[in-house]
Amino acid sequence: MAERDTPLRFLKGAGPGRARLLERLDLRTFGDLLEHYPRAYLDRTHVVPLGSLQPGVEVTAAGEVRSVAVRRTRGGRQDLHAILDDGTGVVECVWFNQAFLANRIRRGVHLLLSGRVEYFRRLRFNSPEWEILEPGGETPEAPGIVPVYPLTAGLSQRALRRWVRQALATCERELAEFLPGSILERQKLPSWFEAHRGIHFPCTPDEIHAARHRIGFQELFDLQVLLELSRRAYERPRTARPLTAPGRLVEALRASLPFSLTSAQQRAIEEIRRDLARDCPMHRLLEGDVGSGKTLVALAGALLAIEAGAQVALMAPTEILAAQHARTVERLLAPLGVRAAYLSGGLPARRAEEVREAARGGELQLLIGTHALVEETVSFAALGLVIVDEQHRFGVMQRARLLEKGENPHGLIMSATPIPRTLALTLFGDLDVTVLDEMPPGRQPPRTHLVPEARYADLLDYIGRTLAQGAQAYFVCPMIEASEESDLAAAVELARRLAEEPALQGRRGALLHGRMKSEEKDAAMRAFLAGQVAYLVATTVIEVGVDVPNASLMVIEHPERYGLSQLHQLRGRIGRGRQPAHLFLVRRAGTGDEARRRIEVLVRETNGFRIAEEDLRLRGPGEFFGIRQSGLPPLKVADPIAQPELLEAARREARQLLAAPAEPLPGSPFWRRLEARFGERLRLYGVG
Ligand code: ADP
Ligand code: MG
Repeated sequence: MAERDTPLRFLKGAGPGRARLLERLDLRTFGDLLEHYPRAYLDRTHVVPLGSLQPGVEVTAAGEVRSVAVRRTRGGRQDLHAILDDGTGVVECVWFNQAFLANRIRRGVHLLLSGRVEYFRRLRFNSPEWEILEPGGETPEAPGIVPVYPLTAGLSQRALRRWVRQALATCERELAEFLPGSILERQKLPSWFEAHRGIHFPCTPDEIHAARHRIGFQELFDLQVLLELSRRAYERPRTARPLTAPGRLVEALRASLPFSLTSAQQRAIEEIRRDLARDCPMHRLLEGDVGSGKTLVALAGALLAIEAGAQVALMAPTEILAAQHARTVERLLAPLGVRAAYLSGGLPARRAEEVREAARGGELQLLIGTHALVEETVSFAALGLVIVDEQHRFGVMQRARLLEKGENPHGLIMSATPIPRTLALTLFGDLDVTVLDEMPPGRQPPRTHLVPEARYADLLDYIGRTLAQGAQAYFVCPMIEASEESDLAAAVELARRLAEEPALQGRRGALLHGRMKSEEKDAAMRAFLAGQVAYLVATTVIEVGVDVPNASLMVIEHPERYGLSQLHQLRGRIGRGRQPAHLFLVRRAGTGDEARRRIEVLVRETNGFRIAEEDLRLRGPGEFFGIRQSGLPPLKVADPIAQPELLEAARREARQLLAAPAEPLPGSPFWRRLEARFGERLRLYGVG
């Protein structure tokens, strides 16, 4: 077994109890610990005298605690205030909402602090990093710059530092260099071991910088290598059936629409038409902001394929969305003579079998459905195009399995997360990218309001009145955990409360959640769409794709529990019609400052591309792209948005190494490490 796989209970002085605490930080092995990078550093080599602090500067300072007080804010938060003195001057320190620190930060204690100096009536540090200095000054354990790690209750910085040191010493041999020296030289990178030592236990600020540079580079390099291998897997000489069609069906569709296509939609359709006509499979990502009209582009693509005599599969991640697509197809494509059907797990067995039979026999031209489409019992006579909506909900494997149902069918993938084109190209480097960078005309983006809990009753009054005038509303229910049961319970409870609300008397509401039977979901959606129901209480099942143009109001409870992009997705459900739309984010007492700042981004920003950037920055790419499920490397240090040059350098070097390796790759240290980390992916690409 590799040293890095050693379980953490073997750390000196840890044992099973501490190991469990470490597990809360997602740390299980020595290797995990090595990748638990410091969140900040305390630089004891440059302690600035308090008398010469300047506002706006990031510094390390030290001093004796002269006084401590816990102060309660009007919002009910308990902050710890302390005054520090080092003989040259004094400074105030505030730790927001951390009154519990009072039992460690006490009068007479010597503190080492690091953070940004602010000016708020006097000089002060807001929630600085801190550490208690032992009497007599330096602790023997670490004299210079010390790392500050993300912690959990019950663990101390000191213990974590000791353990990381142990892991580093134990795993030294496994941190041997694996990149060719030429890359290290060109990119001015320290060795792999040096980078780990330097990120955890730097001697100078320059070492921190160099270490982060190497580790960030490596994360992006790994990502680019995988994308390049993926691209090659797709581009392996494969012939697809070229699908050429005069485009009469698309013309007919266009003529039947009450509006004209945006020029972005027309460009996208044109690109798809060119791809379909080629004899190698299309592999295209279609992205755009919520509401930019991706569905119509996809349907036009489907019509081109159908006109050329091929079958098309359209897969969506939820029954609600798949059923909605089926209704759209029924409304727009059935009049053109397209034979389409809908398949989901909720269909009666007899009907499902009929549908499968029609797909198998080739009478069916378009099959719409949920992941039921990837089941083995589904087959096609001539599947020529696979369309996947809201791809982030599917794993690579599901996509691959649907593609296998045809002979190298063309693939169109639709993403809900708008990301800037250059970033899309580098992060989804294995796909061609089409961006719908234009919204249909006449849209007014919803206005977003942060509503304090105290005004909830007023909010309901307003909604009640607006519904009485014929508007429709969504109430999106708090997401409690990742579990559907608890979400469901919360939705049921909210629906009950709203039904008793005097402000909403006389208005019909309906409930919608993932656990309802297919017919029930369908009935609720249809009733809402037809305007028979004034408001819908829903879990986040409505997040993806739901399209009810008359709905113009949305209330989101506990917005702090969602990611920014997800909130933007939810918001995208309204503002699809002519009437002005309003989103209300209910802010409960006790929402942390950080959550609040995050939510405020949404109030000012309506552009999904910029929100996505912010979200990516805040949550990191792992969460953002659902990378965990996709098996791509996490980016813990690299920031592809802030460091486009580093991303570009990693991409260039990765491609060059794969194209012209100095030594054969298989068996090389580089390849062995890649296999150890991403073996499953490599096998998927046929190179593992
Ligand atoms: P998304 O890109 O979020 O999937 P949809 O495809 O659901 O967006 O489209 C959103 C709404 O905009 C739908 O009601 C659709 O009919 C409408 N729509 C699409 N294209 C246009 C257009 N060119 N002009 C006006 N409305 C459009
Ligand atoms: Mg959509």
